[in-house]
Amino acid sequence: MTALSPHLRQATPVVAVRGEGVHLYGEDGRRYLDFTAGIGVTSTGHCHPKVVAAAQEQVGTLVHGQYTTVMHQPLRRLVDKLGEVLPAGLDSLFFTNSGSEAVEAALRLARQATGRPNIIVCHGGFHGRTVAAASMTTSGTRFRSGFSPLMSGVVVTPFPSAYRYGWDEETATRFALKELDYTLQTISSPADTAAIIVEPVLGEGGYVPATQAFLQGLRERADRHGFLLILDEVQTGVGRTGRFWGHDHFGVTPDILVTAKGLASGFPLSGIAASEELMTKAWPGSQGGTYGANAVACAAACATLDVVRDEKLVENAEAMGKRLRQGLEAVADRTPGIGDVRGLGLMLAAEFVTEDGSPDPETAARVQRAAVDAGLLLLLCGAWNQVVRMIPALVIDEAAVDEGLQAWATAVEVGTSGVARR
Ligand code: PMP
Repeated sequence: MTALSPHLRQATPVVAVRGEGVHLYGEDGRRYLDFTAGIGVTSTGHCHPKVVAAAQEQVGTLVHGQYTTVMHQPLRRLVDKLGEVLPAGLDSLFFTNSGSEAVEAALRLARQATGRPNIIVCHGGFHGRTVAAASMTTSGTRFRSGFSPLMSGVVVTPFPSAYRYGWDEETATRFALKELDYTLQTISSPADTAAIIVEPVLGEGGYVPATQAFLQGLRERADRHGFLLILDEVQTGVGRTGRFWGHDHFGVTPDILVTAKGLASGFPLSGIAASEELMTKAWPGSQGGTYGANAVACAAACATLDVVRDEKLVENAEAMGKRLRQGLEAVADRTPGIGDVRGLGLMLAAEFVTEDGSPDPETAARVQRAAVDAGLLLLLCGAWNQVVRMIPALVIDEAAVDEGLQAWATAVEVGTSGVARR
């Protein structure tokens, strides 16, 4: 008898039969409110009719046209559509299939363009599971252990994680920037530094938004020292945070932008954007792959971008995120084991802590399991898996937010009962 690898074990016992909007229907006959969205992927909800129609039509027309061999129409359309939402100057695009591959494409480009070896990463960042991306990932040893040696040339600098340090944001930002300057003086000189990569909101690392002063400080140092600023918007892009890009909150534009997840509503598609001048510094043949910019994925991405615009999903993410956050804060106010509620837009999380403020992954796991029993699908994140995150599809409405909050209140009640009060 064959069975799934234990590495493919699921965070929930649900076997999904069908998805519609913010709901998944299980083999057990139950309907679940999905606050995982395939880890922030099904931005337009499960099986949005317009995305389904675009993909179905494309399947019957052209499935695969390897794009370094022949251009295809969905890709050309997608490039035009992305041109409407990308920051000015990032006018050259390159496509891959997953977040990790896109991160690697950004890394290769940065090294080739600058001729410098090192990449500075922020502590707590997650950039993927391929060996290079895992080498740049510092959000948990579970993503790095056991397959060393990892890629060399990675240098870690602090992220302004105010809650973790027990500081205010200003102090955490000042500390992180001072440490970066020290790093550039002691470990990785500017002449050895190709780029710094950061997520506008730490994702797998615990849903911690960056600060404006921190990102501005990175931009300023990148310009001063001639290295590149890479923003990994794999999780924060395409409306997730209540702005089209996560960096729109901070007014800081990257040299290379990495996108994936929400871009194609669940079809595998990722990519990087940079200036044409920078992009042409990648050596021909060094970037690419057989499946990048698959025609069906591109058609789904075009439909996704249309839906995001026509249904005002960015605005909806902001409004619904506000409502969800208020509800999460109300529950946290009466739950001593919830130490922090944070995030941006519809990328929200609650951190569980013990009486002395230490990470409490056991309670987080109990709450997550109780949520499934209450019909709400949630995922954990954070270095200790002590953070419960909420990333519903951007199409969520008030009724579904309230339904989720009700299930959350029940799950927190069940999951924290018997836990010592702080
Ligand atoms: N970067 C970020 C910020 C991510 O959140 C993820 C996935 N969680 C990745 C990169 C890697 O993406 P993938 O799993 O598609 O390789």
